[in-house]
Amino acid sequence: MSASETIHVDGVWRAAASGATREVLDPADATVIQLVAEGGAEDADAAVAAARRAFDDGSWSATPVAERAALLRRVADLLQRDREEIALIESRDTGKTLEEGRVDVDDVTNAFRYFADTVMNESGGRVVDAGSADVHSVVVHEPVGVCALITPWNYPLLQASWKIAPALAAGNTFVIKPSEVTPLSTVHLVKLLAEAGLPNGVANIVTGAGVPVGQRLADHPDVDLFSFTGGLVSGTKAGAAAVSGAKKIALELGGKNPNVVFADACATEEGFDTAVDQALNAAFIHSGQVCSAGARLIVEESVKDRFVAELARRAEKIKLGRGTEDGVECGPLVSQQQLDKVEAYVASALAEGAQLRSGGARPEPSDIRPATGYFYSPTVLDGCHREMKVVREETFGPILSVETFTTEDEAVALANDTEYGLAGAVFSGNSARARRVAARLRHGTVWINDYHPYLPQAEWGGFGKSGIGRELGPSGLDEYRESKHIYENLRPEPVRWFGG
Ligand code: NAD
Repeated sequence: MSASETIHVDGVWRAAASGATREVLDPADATVIQLVAEGGAEDADAAVAAARRAFDDGSWSATPVAERAALLRRVADLLQRDREEIALIESRDTGKTLEEGRVDVDDVTNAFRYFADTVMNESGGRVVDAGSADVHSVVVHEPVGVCALITPWNYPLLQASWKIAPALAAGNTFVIKPSEVTPLSTVHLVKLLAEAGLPNGVANIVTGAGVPVGQRLADHPDVDLFSFTGGLVSGTKAGAAAVSGAKKIALELGGKNPNVVFADACATEEGFDTAVDQALNAAFIHSGQVCSAGARLIVEESVKDRFVAELARRAEKIKLGRGTEDGVECGPLVSQQQLDKVEAYVASALAEGAQLRSGGARPEPSDIRPATGYFYSPTVLDGCHREMKVVREETFGPILSVETFTTEDEAVALANDTEYGLAGAVFSGNSARARRVAARLRHGTVWINDYHPYLPQAEWGGFGKSGIGRELGPSGLDEYRESKHIYENLRPEPVRWFGG
């Protein structure tokens, strides 16, 4: 296989049918890491045809659940075997630090193991009481069929695995289209699936752009399920195309996530230190390119000045550089386009009256920070309000906006004042208050006195425009299964509804 043969159809690695290629760039210095195949609609068609054949011939869907689960566990072991290699691929491709890359590999390993266990535990079907001893009624689960899986650039391995692991556990076949910006770890993952023994045609990948490849998968009549993670605009467009063909759809979209800090969280020095540290982590890990980033700090007025001063002081000290360098805490943004977008958001916030407390510019180049890299300094903007673009829209960069409140009701109203509803957090030293506020937040994940952890066994997804459906947890498996009710009459006799 040559480096640019990144399309995998029916067990064969190959180039794009058109021969086109795309350069994948290292965001730390804008040099080319690798050429990949730039697939087109005909590659998408070939991949769907392979997935269709593999589904219809039952080579995977009819494989006993225990064997499917065993294969997922082998994939988990292979991910751990290749942990350093994959972490390096992910770090160079996305810009994130090597340590973040390792954490991602460990997290997806857990996801593969979780879905292996879950499908085993839930494979027996559910007997339903039909109200008669003469009836045996059972609800069983079956795979949906051919799944089209579309993933974004920020957590490529993780987003791919959250779809691939449950899709395979349930017995589906799939075509995945990773982001054209960061496709490399997904290519590696598909190689591991083949090495683990998955039959040809079950797992297919087409590297290429959203239009035409993703769009073709959304439109394709032989696709049964369309699962998309990415931005609101492209997600709703692709989702609408998929729905018009009556496919099942799942959309994991953006977020504009509040981090609510009450003064009582800062009543002790330890509490203050923790809340500031967590606010930094919430906003700036992976340079804020996280769907659940705590990009809106909503802090109680009485502690705001001290809190923001300390936050800005620590933000200035975050070590920015190439993700593979020792000691680097934050990598670059993923692309020039993303850098331009972040600069525009900061400019618009300042024009609307925000006060710059840290960052607000590209950092000076250094030996770990090439001038050609897409670096941007962690930026804290004080004095923000809900009418500002920077507060309402997902910036997907290292920008933290600060708003204040004086009452609990006001804090809840601010936190819920977003068209999204993916995640949010509340920091309070009063556990009754923290739980009360958590119960009122209209977000799919709410952390209390923490930020960012998620569990493979707990559902992930959003309220409002953050999406449709859930990944992870039992619901994450159900997305990839059809329920079938089998009603068996044990003593058949005429019903005599009609006289005849
Ligand atoms: P994007 O929407 O630009 O692209 C996502 C994927 O969709 C890519 O593979 C792209 O090629 C493809 N695509 C684009 N247009 C398409 C079309 N018309 N039809 C089919 N596919 C198309 O998003 P991005 O910039 O790669 O990622 C950032 C976004 O992803 C942010 O909004 C972020 O919040 C979101 N995200 C959400 C979650 C979550 O769990 N909810 C997780 C990670 C990222």
